[in-house]
Amino acid sequence: MIIDHGKGLVFRPPAEANSLILRITIGCSHNACAFCAMYRRTKFLVRTDDEIFHLIELAAEKYPLTRRVFLADGNALVLSTEQLLSIISKLKSTFPKLTRVACYGGPRDILRKTVNELTVLREAGLKIVYLGIESGDDGVLIRVNKGVNSMEMVAAGQRVLKSGIKLSAMVILGLGGNEKSAQHALNTARVLNLINPTILSTLTLTLYEGTPLWESVQKGEFIPLSKEETLLELRQLLSNIQFSRPCIFRSDHASNLLPLSGTLNKDKDKLLSELNDVIDFFHGR
Ligand code: SF4
Repeated sequence: MIIDHGKGLVFRPPAEANSLILRITIGCSHNACAFCAMYRRTKFLVRTDDEIFHLIELAAEKYPLTRRVFLADGNALVLSTEQLLSIISKLKSTFPKLTRVACYGGPRDILRKTVNELTVLREAGLKIVYLGIESGDDGVLIRVNKGVNSMEMVAAGQRVLKSGIKLSAMVILGLGGNEKSAQHALNTARVLNLINPTILSTLTLTLYEGTPLWESVQKGEFIPLSKEETLLELRQLLSNIQFSRPCIFRSDHASNLLPLSGTLNKDKDKLLSELNDVIDFFHGR
């Protein structure tokens, strides 16, 4: 369910398929990650309160029983806490059955908010933030121009969780390429262990023409992983994850070769066993 009068394509996490997608911004405030083509041609703008409230009224006519709302586009947390509170308050008064509001949060935007501000947002109704960690390796984060280092990413993830908001973290298999695969896997596991997100999803690197990473591949500066190498990297990542609280794990994104799901650490051995079966298949055993 998309209420949209803006430009460009609309993206949302798979888990928000049944949510009302409300574009409070158009595009991404960062819009500089070397692998990302999502909003590359979309000029970033924040919608005015009048526009947003008008969209909410339109949505109420079409979808009055809305329970979940996803605030799009790329980094809704770029808005001030006051703006977000006023939008959530309008949503609550418009949709009596509303149970949760969710959004993407860029690490720098999260770090611009205090734990107290995030807690107030959670109490107002912001229940889940999706954070693209992508990698826990500083070299990879610099190369893909994520805009933060690994410890800033840890601080952002921990801050969301400290406020009581659920954190859905995403990492990208293959983002270190052939050269940095091992350090990408090990350091991503290290960062994930420090954050211990509520939900963890792995995506597999997809190269899009026109992105800086795609250009690097053309120049031979970045060698993508093969399917088998991607599975080996996932095994290295999973093997090194050691959470202290349960974390829902999914690798069900369309980009992935092998859909896996379970709860970490409880299902770690089962997930590794499923993964090993497929790796053996590649080895012809
Ligand atoms: S922050 Fe997210 S949406 Fe924005 S450029 Fe990076 S990956 Fe793309």
